[in-house]
Amino acid sequence: MPAPNHIGTTERPLRVAIVGAGPAGFFAATALLEQTEVTVDVDVFDRLPTPYGLVRGGVAPDRPKMKSVASVYAKTAEHPAFFFFGNVELGRDLSVADLMGCYDQVLYASGNEADRRMGIPGEQLIGCTPASVFVGWYNGHPDYRCAEFDLSCHRVAIVGNGNVALDVARILARSYEELRATEIADHALEVLRQSQVEEIVVLGRRGPLQASFTPAELRELTGLRHARVEVSTEALELDEASRAHYERARPRDPQRQVVELLAAIASKAPSTAVRTVRLRFLVSPVGLVGDERGRVRALRLEKNRLVRDQDGAVGARGTGDIEELEVGWVFVSIGSRGKSIPGIPFDEQRGVIANVEGRVVDVETGEIRPGQYCAGWARTGPQGLIASNKVASAQVVRRMLEDVAQGRVSDPAHGGRAAMTTLLRERGVRYVTFEEWKVIDEAEIERGHARGAPRSKLVRVPEMLDLVEMKRRGW
Ligand code: NAP
Repeated sequence: MPAPNHIGTTERPLRVAIVGAGPAGFFAATALLEQTEVTVDVDVFDRLPTPYGLVRGGVAPDRPKMKSVASVYAKTAEHPAFFFFGNVELGRDLSVADLMGCYDQVLYASGNEADRRMGIPGEQLIGCTPASVFVGWYNGHPDYRCAEFDLSCHRVAIVGNGNVALDVARILARSYEELRATEIADHALEVLRQSQVEEIVVLGRRGPLQASFTPAELRELTGLRHARVEVSTEALELDEASRAHYERARPRDPQRQVVELLAAIASKAPSTAVRTVRLRFLVSPVGLVGDERGRVRALRLEKNRLVRDQDGAVGARGTGDIEELEVGWVFVSIGSRGKSIPGIPFDEQRGVIANVEGRVVDVETGEIRPGQYCAGWARTGPQGLIASNKVASAQVVRRMLEDVAQGRVSDPAHGGRAAMTTLLRERGVRYVTFEEWKVIDEAEIERGHARGAPRSKLVRVPEMLDLVEMKRRGW
């Protein structure tokens, strides 16, 4: 049903801006374009000239099936009511007021771009990097193309027990031949080709039953051609409460499956693989030790035991038992949080945009900011898999449509795509359309084929813009 003020009709479509062309943004665009209650125009903005967010820059290059969801998003982008404004950054090229001046509703799906820190001495040493930098680097994200990793050491550590930690371990453990066949960035392929790393130690602060990684990712790690996974049987001894939890869990329970998989790994005869991924539990880094050049030489680890609070939540408590583990590089993979964008209320404690069920609210008063919404990790923090965004984004879209039906839209005086296009042109912002992105896409695929890979990414924004410009001029 159209809104009382006729917004959402063919004559006056509902104008929606989505900030962020990742999974949450694209699933929201799809939900908006597939519904039949109101006529809608959807403009999706991204700070990069390339769409797909984490699918392009986060999902590991050796997971082509997971990346294939991009073809679903590309189909959405073909809808006549869809438009892509790539290379346009909120906070740099546009303000929230600019967006609110052009659109009835704005949905922030800008993800999580800040890393969590361990907060321990030595974290600033050379050789200690957030895992997200490594992930962005091997995925050819322009922000991280200049990152440097010295893999001339024999042992590296990964702190954290989530799926990102396993992605990093897998990429470090794969052979050059395996990596070359993926869409890994050329610069990363060359560095990994020279890698001397033989042992990759993954550190979990709690026990195996509390690990965040999922059975499918663990299974994938065990299937590597040139690396073996090791875990000691002692590491798998569950404390009394964990054992009770494990025994109560149904066979399909992911935590139970993880413990079973780990037990199978522990009982395997040692192989002669070139690389070893060693999974350790109940240890926390308490400091990093540097050498005379200010580079990481070792990690100080404290053994933990599990403790439970009165609500039954399981935590890790240090026992005072400290060891030193010689390592040449440390990847910190302990999760991420949102980055505050000027003009958007931010919940500092949770690291997300302040919201109630996807409606943006004022931090102090809790009052709803009409016409502003958020979805994906910008709304919830980092949780769930790519596909989880489909349902979650559709739920936020439902609330947006409820607000339209009740006339709770901002209805700016000037508006929509035409006004936005003029504004960006006046500011000299070179936005990239979806058609122009396809030029980049094709060039990357062609470059990839020359390497025997599905794609070889362009990693510099100016290079992408030049390519688009040359095509436009017919050069
Ligand atoms: P995550 O799943 O939240 O895992 C973070 C890990 O860091 C946890 O094991 C956590 O331990 C640990 N940690 C936090 N603070 C720590 C500290 N100070 N010291 C030591 N350890 C600490 O985060 P993520 O791995 O970044 O993944 C984010 C999301 O992306 C998840 O939903 C994940 O499933 C998803 N993802 C999926 C895939 C895939 O499907 N292939 C790939 C990558 C990412 P505690 O549990 O003890 O807090």
